[in-house]
Parts: sequence; structure tokens; C-alpha cells
Amino acid sequence: MKKLSAVYLQLSLITASALLNGAENIEPALSLSEMDLVSWVDSQEQEMLELLEQITNINSGTLNKEGVNQITQIFQSELRALGFRTSRLPGDLIEMPSCPGSDYSLDVTDHLLASRIGSGAKLLLMGHMDTVFPVTSTFNTFRKEGDTMFGPGVADMHGGLVVMLYALKALDATNKLNGKTITVLLNSDEEIGSLSSRKHIEEQAILHDWGLVYEASGTNKFVRARKGLGQARIVVNGRASHAGGAHAVGRSAIKELAYKIIEIENMTNYETGVTLNVGIVGGGEARNTIAPCAEALIDIRYPAIHQGEEAKERIDQIANELYSYPIDSEEIKTDLWINLHRPPKTPTPESDDLLEKALSIGRLLQQEIGITDSGGGTDGSLSQAVGLPTLDSLGVAGTGAHSNREEARVSSLVERTKLSAILIHRLSSK
Ligand SMILES: [Zn+2]
Repeated sequence: MKKLSAVYLQLSLITASALLNGAENIEPALSLSEMDLVSWVDSQEQEMLELLEQITNINSGTLNKEGVNQITQIFQSELRALGFRTSRLPGDLIEMPSCPGSDYSLDVTDHLLASRIGSGAKLLLMGHMDTVFPVTSTFNTFRKEGDTMFGPGVADMHGGLVVMLYALKALDATNKLNGKTITVLLNSDEEIGSLSSRKHIEEQAILHDWGLVYEASGTNKFVRARKGLGQARIVVNGRASHAGGAHAVGRSAIKELAYKIIEIENMTNYETGVTLNVGIVGGGEARNTIAPCAEALIDIRYPAIHQGEEAKERIDQIANELYSYPIDSEEIKTDLWINLHRPPKTPTPESDDLLEKALSIGRLLQQEIGITDSGGGTDGSLSQAVGLPTLDSLGVAGTGAHSNREEARVSSLVERTKLSAILIHRLSSK
């Protein structure tokens, strides 16, 4: 089994270029009844835009439970209207160490599960309802100019949620939804790494045959492979004292954290693809006080799972090491929270088949879609890691995610919905 996958990895580069050049279309031409799907979707652009505008104008930053719940409510009633049985999966309070006063815990609201039972292959459709934009963000409204739409989540991934829903509506409107086994899982914490929903995703993934995730397709490209991700929070506690009168008595948490940050940043190795980023630091009380506490938030990326585990071990060592004061000092204490929250997404023969099928259906629809690899993770990494072949970039073509430059191509709403409707139809017919 191991040998097989090694050979497969060797071949995978060749496969990628074969996929890209893909002169041969593996998919049969569209049937008359699939043409119905296509023309139904063509008639829905206005409705899709209206729904996208409505949900983009609701702030749904991960920690804005009220906003995320409003999005949940909208999709829950839409899916019910399509004959899905729906339920809420409970969210969680995720606690992490923090300095006094910077109480750092993540209160995640419920997730949405919807299912229709039929026969044929079992499909798991996934998307996230949260965005990175907190309720205080000034980037908070939908705007459209020509073929471009702007707003928080238009690409990542409210746009994808609309694509997913309208693909299902298209199947329903053309009498193709009955008899299919489809589960929709919409989580509310993807942007903080699915720390609450991971268990639900993995639980559902092993019950299904194919996974479809509606993250954006960037500059018109499906993502084939992704790096693994990890996150860590390191909190150093020292001892406060007067910076003038009692300097020698103090134990500066900032000084100790500074050493640790350098060690952590030095783990980055562009040759192996492992990168570490200390993205946020905080600490201290006053200029003239030796800092009693300091904290840092760390991002970890790795191409292979063992590299993630090695990085985790090294960070653990760095946390336990004392760099700034004599080794017998008992007055510096470090707390570490670390989580490899997304395994790398490594292509498999089955996930390449799925990718090829989607590309091929794209070509039938005159959509030339490329292939790329990405350093960013998605929930598709979680489902694929437990054995579900997953394509995770079926959403709108859009860029600038996680910034106030986020935008997406309006015409990709209709394009991707057609592709998705036919993909779902064909996958579940087998
Ligand atoms: Zn996303």
C-alpha cells in the first residue's frame, strides 16, 4: 500500500500536466436533460446575485454568532424547501492560554447539517458560512460593477454557497434531485481552522463517496494539492517589577518571548516548504515596567504530515527552553497551545479522477479551467485525509480573499453553478 502511494506520488507530477493539457474529453456530451439544467441556471443570475447581496451584507465574521446564525437560518430554510432534513450541530467554546486581560477564547456557533437520502453514490457538499471580517470591519457591503462584485465573502465563500444552493435548486427544478443521496455540511468556523467543526466533517466524510467544497476557484483554477496547516499560541509569564528601581528583580516575558520568536521564525525552510509565521504578538504593561506577560500567535505550513509533526515537536521544545535568564530560574513559565488543524491535501488517483471529471464537464460548457496547488488549506483537506476524494474549489472565480480587495467575477456564479449541477448529477448517477 505504501509502495503504491510512493509510486503514485512520483507519477502525480506527470498526471498534473496531463490533466492540464487534457486534450481528450473523458466525459460524454451533455444530454438533452442536462441541457435543461444549463438553461434553468442561465435564467437565475439575477436571483443568485440578490441572494449573494443579501448574505454579503450580513456580517458573518466567525465570532459574530448572531450574524453567522442569520446565514444559517437562510440556508436552512432554502434546503428544507428542497426536501432536505436539517439539523444544527452544536458549536464549541475553544479556550487557549492568554495573558491576563487579553482573554483569548473562541466561541463558535452551531453548524448546519442537511441531508437527502436516496440511492447511488453518496455526495458530501461542504461550505463555510463565516468570513474573516469581524463585526467592526468597515468592509461590509456588497457592490457590483460590470462583471465584478466586491464585498466580504463574495469569493470566500458566500459566492460558493450560492453556487452550491443553486446547483441543488437546478436539479430540483428539472426533477433530478429526487433519489440522490446528498449531505450538505455548512460550518461556522472555517476561518479559524474548523476547530469546532473538524469532528463533524470527519464523521460525515467517512460516510460518503465524493466530497465537493465550494471555496473560490481563484483565477479560474481548481486546486489539486494543498499544504498542511497548524496554529499555535504561546504565552510567556514572567515577573513584573520597576524598570528603574528593581530591574534585576524582574523577569521580562517580552525578552523571553523575543528569543522564542527568533527560534520559531528560524524554522522556516523554503527548500522543504515548511514555513512559520509569528503573525501577532502582544504583551507588557507599561514602558517602565518589566513585562509580566507576553504572547504570540503562530502559523505553521508544511507539505507533508511528518513535517508538521516535527515542527510541532520543535515548537514544544522552544516553549520549554529558557533563553533569557539563568536556567535555574523558576520565575518564567510558558504555556503552549498547538494544533495541526489541517493535514496536507495530497492528491490520490480518486481525487484526480474527480478533478478530471470536473475539468472535463467544464470543457463541455466552454469553461477552460486550470489547475494549481495552494499553500492555503480548506475543509477539503480534512475530508480527503480521512479517505473521501474531495474537490475543494468549486466556488466562484475570485481573488483578494481576507482583504478589503476581495472580489469575484459575476459571470462565474452561473458558470460554476452549471458545472456543479452536472457534476453532482453525474457523480450521483453512478
Ligand atoms: Zn474559505
